[in-house]
Amino acid sequence: MTAADVVVAGAGPAGSAAAHVLASAGLQVLVLERARFPRDKSCGDGVTAHAVDILTGMGVSFDAFGRQAVKTYGGLIGAPNGDAFLAQAPPHNGKPPECWVVPRMVLDERIAQAAVRAGAQLRQGALVTGLVRRRGAVEGVEWSDGGGVNRTAARIVIGADGAHSAVAKALRVKNSPPRHLGYALRGYFADVRELSGELEIYYFDAGLLPGYGWIFPTGPDTANVGVGIYSGELKRSKRKLRDILSAFVTSVPRVTRQLQSARPTGKAVGWPLPVSSAHRRTTFDGAMLCGDAASLVDPLTGEGIYTALVSGRSAAHAAIEALKSGDTSSFALRAHDREWRAIAGGYLSSGRLLKNLAKSPVLMNLIVRRGRENGYYASRAIGYGLGTLDRRRALRSIVMRALFNPSFFRN
Ligand SMILES: Cc1cc2nc3c(=O)[nH]c(=O)nc-3n(C[C@H](O)[C@H](O)[C@H](O)COP(=O)(O)OP(=O)(O)OC[C@H]3O[C@@H](n4cnc5c(N)ncnc54)[C@H](O)[C@@H]3O)c2cc1C
Repeated sequence: MTAADVVVAGAGPAGSAAAHVLASAGLQVLVLERARFPRDKSCGDGVTAHAVDILTGMGVSFDAFGRQAVKTYGGLIGAPNGDAFLAQAPPHNGKPPECWVVPRMVLDERIAQAAVRAGAQLRQGALVTGLVRRRGAVEGVEWSDGGGVNRTAARIVIGADGAHSAVAKALRVKNSPPRHLGYALRGYFADVRELSGELEIYYFDAGLLPGYGWIFPTGPDTANVGVGIYSGELKRSKRKLRDILSAFVTSVPRVTRQLQSARPTGKAVGWPLPVSSAHRRTTFDGAMLCGDAASLVDPLTGEGIYTALVSGRSAAHAAIEALKSGDTSSFALRAHDREWRAIAGGYLSSGRLLKNLAKSPVLMNLIVRRGRENGYYASRAIGYGLGTLDRRRALRSIVMRALFNPSFFRN
């Protein structure tokens, strides 16, 4: 049996962020990744400003992506009644907030390279199949590279292996109930016209709210196009995600024009969105979960790269402290939970409340109308969505207006 201080399952944003912190602290880290880079991951490819900040801190240079990435500063929001506004988000850390669209085929390899540069060992084509345990505590992983079962002993195992996490399954974590699960489908298109150059989000179908369709620019005339819908609304609609994607393209006149002469480049790929309202357990004796494996996707937007990075880093910080003290119990590892909650807990819990408000077509129509009428509201709505503004203020402001300025809500 080989050995490492920490084994990380999965080299997505969560696993690579964890490995980067651990290796930078001088620990022996082995990252086991099922795929081989460059590998795709079904995603909108939108990297928001708070995720860009973390990645830049890890040494991932967005300018170095060249034509493989597009910088955006704001968004277009479309309402169920067809109304829309386009706005930039308010400044973030004193600068216009820089969001990027980078295909995950490119982005994830760069993040993994940052971890390797810091000293992590990355083993590709290595599928984690189970955990090694002694008296209930995790003491390593079982994995396969196609040539039989290998075992690696580890003082701590970090499960960063995504929405279908094998580590979470081995820890007997239940799948998220349907109301805490979304599904999203994404395709790439070439020869797209009239792109705004910003992140375009359309709440196009009142019956599917808070689900939405998006067009994110991946170049001057290429785009990532998709839909993300909660499991409940999807089931009630009795439609397939693929049909909903087609309906999105044909039912929004602007999107129809944009994609009129466009051609798909590859097959549309779907994937689950395990949202944070599931409150999944994230610490165990000798193991932690982070990113999608911990069900940490933002309930409002479906954004998960930021929380994957935050929780990958918090798992690594907790591991470093636990290894120093020699206590790797679930109790000691709760520092992981405390850290990601302190950083992203408010953003996620207010995202859950805002998502419930976004189920109302009346409210969505009104918000978009107010945004179109008033640049200040428009800019703030974009900031709340992108997480560059504190969303708890959005909730407070909605409550205050309802109490003291109810005319705001009149059509
Ligand atoms: C269609 C769609 C659109 C989205 N759009 C956005 C967006 O625009 N912006 C945003 O921020 N988020 C978006 N998300 C969410 C985002 O993609 C995820 O939240 C994010 O990728 C989570 O990162 P992660 O590292 O936890 O997991 P992943 O990115 O899924 O990485 C997990 C890694 O583990 C590997 N792995 C899996 N199983 C094993 C195993 N058994 N052994 C070894 N390795 C394994 C996988 O190959 C993968 O490399 C979207 C999701 C979907 C489905």
